[in-house]
Amino acid sequence: MIVNCRGIRTNKQRSGILPIIALLMLSITAGCSQSNPNQGTSSEQPPQAQEAASTPSVQSTKTKVVTTFLPIYLFTKAVAGNVADVEILVPPGTEVHEYQATPQNVKAIATANVLVKNGLGLEEFLENTVKNAQNPKLAEIDASKGIKPLNEISPVVKTAQEEEDHEHTQGNPHVWLDPVLAKQQVTNIRDGLIAADPANKATYEANAATYIKELESLNNEFQQTLQKTPSCTFITFHDAFPYLAQRYNLKQVAVVQIPEDQLSPTDVQNAVNAVKKYKVKALFSEPGVDNKLLSSLSKDLKLTLRPLDSLETGETDPQHYFKAMKANLQTLQTACK
Ligand SMILES: [Zn+2]
Repeated sequence: MIVNCRGIRTNKQRSGILPIIALLMLSITAGCSQSNPNQGTSSEQPPQAQEAASTPSVQSTKTKVVTTFLPIYLFTKAVAGNVADVEILVPPGTEVHEYQATPQNVKAIATANVLVKNGLGLEEFLENTVKNAQNPKLAEIDASKGIKPLNEISPVVKTAQEEEDHEHTQGNPHVWLDPVLAKQQVTNIRDGLIAADPANKATYEANAATYIKELESLNNEFQQTLQKTPSCTFITFHDAFPYLAQRYNLKQVAVVQIPEDQLSPTDVQNAVNAVKKYKVKALFSEPGVDNKLLSSLSKDLKLTLRPLDSLETGETDPQHYFKAMKANLQTLQTACK
């Protein structure tokens, strides 16, 4: 199902040029590693050598893994390390919720061994793209396998009838923002990669274990910090933090489900109403969003407007997850005081 939400935010550029450069460098690196190691000699190779080159013990081409969007790329890259080539379909800086697939995306899936998605209905563009790619050998990893999706665990203030279209039919997909569920996603990715590429099992296991350890200590840090501010209520303009809120005993009130370019007067009124209805401590926008309406709203409401990162866009280093989440923790701590 393709929902085009008021025709906005499709392919929206949000976080500037740096991630694009990082992505470019990434694809250059990936391109280099795919070059044929037998180049220039294959025609002169004796039959024995050619036979050796085709056996699995000699590494000729790496497993090609395509991931959908940033958090899933970060987790997959962390597990794969250098033994598989990992690509991303939705470039950082581009909105995932209403993403429209490109012909390059179809090509990437057509030539991939493995596809990793967040699941829970987030990647609405994927079904048709995979169909068009016609790759019968493609192994699909659903990173949210076994995660029980939650709906309505935090209040979502609906603006109008049209908002009904945005409801996630498979529950809220933003599970990666809870370090404990992120651990589950990394585990699913690890198991899927091992199934698709058993030769590198030991590497996948070791890399996943390292990353999971970091997620565990991140969870401890969140727990210890946020237990000092129980039931802290915050307003977001993106229904991205219900799992995080539930995990750490906070309360999210989402005024809109998907971030919008321009808040409507109804959104603003809903934010004002929510502040009256709940004991709201904080008002969160997203990094890189400079919304005049939001800043004036925050002044009116006497609540400081701070950025909370949903990690749907950002840097492509797997460590970026921890950097951004620690910044989020700092923001929550300051706002909830
Ligand atoms: Zn989102």
